[in-house]
Amino acid sequence: MPDILSTAQSLIEQTVRDHRGNYCYTCSFQVEDVVLLHLLKTVDPEVPVLFLETGYHFPETLAYRDQVASDWKLNLVNITPPAEAPVELYKTDPAACCNWRKVKGLMAGLDNYNAWVTGLRREQSPTRANLQYVEPHKLPSGRQIQKISPLAEWTWKDVQAYATINSLPELSLYADGYTSIGCAPCTQKPLDPGNLRSGRWGGNKLECGIHTATER
Ligand code: SF4
Repeated sequence: MPDILSTAQSLIEQTVRDHRGNYCYTCSFQVEDVVLLHLLKTVDPEVPVLFLETGYHFPETLAYRDQVASDWKLNLVNITPPAEAPVELYKTDPAACCNWRKVKGLMAGLDNYNAWVTGLRREQSPTRANLQYVEPHKLPSGRQIQKISPLAEWTWKDVQAYATINSLPELSLYADGYTSIGCAPCTQKPLDPGNLRSGRWGGNKLECGIHTATER
């Protein structure tokens, strides 16, 4: 923990030094994202915290987001889908639904910044196994920004240890048995206890697309 913690802190300090006012943090308010938020806000309390308000989150997630935002005085930015986004598309075409409700809005939002901080971890999924601390990311507009993931090497145990040591507030759905939490219609308790994300999209889909939609 000390090594990965100091690496994360150094990367955050460097990001704030290089990009203050020109970077953002995307936060789902899952536990790793709240850990990184806790680290980040101590260095830059004004960082824009982007939340993808898809319209389908659990009420518990929204209440927790609002409580943390109020308690920590966050600069919260809710990104909503375009008005023409089809309703309940998750029932027939989850990939298209994610594209309408997450990818389009976020990619447009990221065009306002030069760097994007995420709480991604290599351990989370085979699609994240090669995640680098800093990666170039080309947006659909053609602009290239930096994608920065200070928790890349952290394990689930590391995340839990930091949250416990620092008495971070916890989203109540974890106590109910959820281990990875997104939109309510696409989130179940884990189907495989050894795979924390196995309850997402019924195990049929690994990513919503925001981390795979752009070229490196
Ligand atoms: S996670 Fe489900 S409900 Fe949310 S945007 Fe993706 S398909 Fe739609």
